[in-house]
Amino acid sequence: VREAGEPVDETELAIEGALRPTSLAEFVGQQKVRGQMQLLLDAARIQQRPADHILLSGPPGLGKTTLAMIVAHESGRPLRLSSGPAIQHAGDLAALLSSLTPGEVLFIDEIHRMARSAEEMLYLAMEDFRIDIMVGKGAGATSIPLDLAPFTLVGATTRSGLLPNPLRDRFGFTAHLEFYEPEELERVIERSAAMLGVSLPPAARAEIARRSRGTPRIANRLLRRVRDYLVVHGRAGADIEAVDAALDLYDVDRIGLDRLDRAVLDALVRRFRGGPVGLGTLAVAVGEEADTIESVVEPYLVRIGFMGRTPRGRIAMPEAYAHLGVPAAESVLG
Ligand code: ADP
Repeated sequence: VREAGEPVDETELAIEGALRPTSLAEFVGQQKVRGQMQLLLDAARIQQRPADHILLSGPPGLGKTTLAMIVAHESGRPLRLSSGPAIQHAGDLAALLSSLTPGEVLFIDEIHRMARSAEEMLYLAMEDFRIDIMVGKGAGATSIPLDLAPFTLVGATTRSGLLPNPLRDRFGFTAHLEFYEPEELERVIERSAAMLGVSLPPAARAEIARRSRGTPRIANRLLRRVRDYLVVHGRAGADIEAVDAALDLYDVDRIGLDRLDRAVLDALVRRFRGGPVGLGTLAVAVGEEADTIESVVEPYLVRIGFMGRTPRGRIAMPEAYAHLGVPAAESVLG
């Protein structure tokens, strides 16, 4: 999934890992979800059983993987990481599930992209900690039941609407992560700046937060770009000018929109005269996958009131015209 800043490389991933909070107390924002998860984990601890299965949904970079790691860490259990695209056959899932140790936390990212046949196997596994393995084909086929060690599944998805109901129903707890408020992002940045040893006055912190698109991952990434800028220019600390200079280089505008966000808005406003336009058409116009537009670009544009969703398609809101500097009347006449 595309991000603001530079392409993800190994070092970036390592730093991202180092900045991850390891406890619910350190996890910034999402207060309601945190409270609910704390209760879930406490109950499991008191009863000495694995926690209920957890489904986390929301756009990329809002903390789903981090929460899965926290579940494992807080309950003192090992964590196994997998993802929907890696589970292309029921056999892949069977191998994964049968190798879990008792109480292990299994994280499946992008769970909506798992193979259908695996989904069905997962229903039984989640409910009864058991799977049926099919051997042979045709009339001679038989199924062999296999007991599994009890585990906690943490599923993450950017598109919870794509999950079949029977799967969704088997999660004991479902949470939708929301974009973060600027004050919350400031706290994320403050914490990360301290860890990275970057000196950042409150105004500079606020400026990075404003440009972070409501997303902690982007906040951390922009902070690293500011740090690079300070290193290269031999500066000890960042002021607003340094933040602006660093971030302008990366095509992140004053309200945090990146190149793709602006391309989508621009197509919507200029080319389709404000819409309504179908998602597929919009995706083709900007040369991007419809799925990316729907799960990454659109949620934020809707959240900040730039884009609306109607039964006939996507429409541009007045704020979008203002941001692009296009008179709204132009589209209405078109
Ligand atoms: P997702 O799995 O939803 O794509 P991640 O859990 O990988 O997102 O989070 C991306 C980065 O953002 C991580 O480096 C993590 O440290 C940081 N992050 C996410 N949510 C929070 C939070 N609530 N508080 C502090 N840091 C966060």
